[in-house]
Amino acid sequence: MQNISEKSLWFLTGSQHLYGKEILEKVTSNASELAGALGESIRREVKLVIKPVLTTSDDILARCQEANNDRSCIGIICWMHTFSPAQMWIRGLTLLAKPFVHLHTQHNRDIPWDTIDMDFMNLNQSAHGDREFGFLCSRMSLDRHIITGHWKDPSVAADLGEWVRAALGRDESLSLNIARFGDNMRDVAVTEGDKVEARMKLGWSVSGYGVGELASAINSVSQSHARSLADEYRDLYRMADGLFSDLASREKIIEAARIELGLESFLQQGGFRAFTTTFEDLHGLKQLPGLAVQRLMEKGYGFGAEGDWKTAALVRCMKVMSSGMQGGTSFMEDYTYHLDPSGMKVLGAHMLEICPSIASVTPGLEIHPLSIGGRDDPPRLVFPVATGKALNATLLDMGSRFRMLVNTVTSVISPELPNLPVARALWVPDPDLRTSATAWIMAGGAHHTVFSLALKPLHMEHFSNMMGIEYLIIDEDTRLREFRNELKWNEIYYRMKG
Ligand code: MN
Repeated sequence: MQNISEKSLWFLTGSQHLYGKEILEKVTSNASELAGALGESIRREVKLVIKPVLTTSDDILARCQEANNDRSCIGIICWMHTFSPAQMWIRGLTLLAKPFVHLHTQHNRDIPWDTIDMDFMNLNQSAHGDREFGFLCSRMSLDRHIITGHWKDPSVAADLGEWVRAALGRDESLSLNIARFGDNMRDVAVTEGDKVEARMKLGWSVSGYGVGELASAINSVSQSHARSLADEYRDLYRMADGLFSDLASREKIIEAARIELGLESFLQQGGFRAFTTTFEDLHGLKQLPGLAVQRLMEKGYGFGAEGDWKTAALVRCMKVMSSGMQGGTSFMEDYTYHLDPSGMKVLGAHMLEICPSIASVTPGLEIHPLSIGGRDDPPRLVFPVATGKALNATLLDMGSRFRMLVNTVTSVISPELPNLPVARALWVPDPDLRTSATAWIMAGGAHHTVFSLALKPLHMEHFSNMMGIEYLIIDEDTRLREFRNELKWNEIYYRMKG
């Protein structure tokens, strides 16, 4: 549903006219060598476009304006191979509306001890050229990511790759439309939030619809269309013998297919890439959308249950950020604990809506009663979640600011759960359940999260920095006393800044 390979990242090299034509030609050729190699290493994520070397304030201003106006440009890399007096950058950087990386590298890796002369010194001077640029960025309080190291060092490319994925998430965030079917679950606090602030800060447009409008889109799906999608389900998923041939069950599966088709066409027509539902408002729907939500999430849509538009939008942004990576990303909820001191764990699940992108096996399609919502028994995909390092992320509206909270976890093998007919994950949080849950609750972390087996905390940190929101991590280094202090310091910082 989104081709990230259409996006571009610009490579800008700063210099000046002091050195003469010959040096500038050398700068141009060195820069294209760097851009070529780095571009190759991130070609799965983005197209790296090299721009002519910048030597005047007017050029820099024009280039920054051009970047702002180019919809495919998700950000820029700035490198000062030589010395580029940074006052020349003020007008451009003042207007620049794209995130940027300050690449602090040098064309030559080693000092050529025997041959080094002043020509070499004049060309390879990022050691001080980049300091001049860095001063200006700090003086202007500009958020940027600084990458230091030789450009052929694989860790430099990896660092850049992580940042690029966050920039792709930001790009998605700024044009993201979310459809909300029904309102917030009555009286729930954490799923609420300031939609005007969210649009100002994160770019999210949140539009509410009466669920009757969705019901009418679903009812306009033809029986033959719904039947043929139900046949696809039969081929794709494991099913109990006789389930599909049982007339009543088959009707429920066809109805689930109708919901998927109606929902998807509603979202497509409205340009929505994320949506919410609520079991408290199912007027005109025969089932709580379960299978449909799971499959649409797998196709890349963001989803949040109980009207949770913040989590829906975050699911979508994180799906874009992790596009093409190993491991899936899903809406998730901390459901219940295993508090055995010899191995405390969290069982994560939802009523139905977990994305099959994180499944460890081919999901089974099952139909069971669901008391919540008071509708027909909904078909759903049931599966255990894949194991490995993962994270849970939540976005909170703290009133004065948005807060991103991330916890690293290890997804582990779950015992057979014969009486729990929903998709479920089992994880051990870092640094341990006690510290993690205490810190999470201290920070106001939600029960709804985005669970990702693909993304790393740094992706989320870059994304938060780019969006100008608070970022907190609970990981193997977390100590409660320090975490509590961090919350206090952030409180002061954001109040003073705000
Ligand atoms: Mn929930």
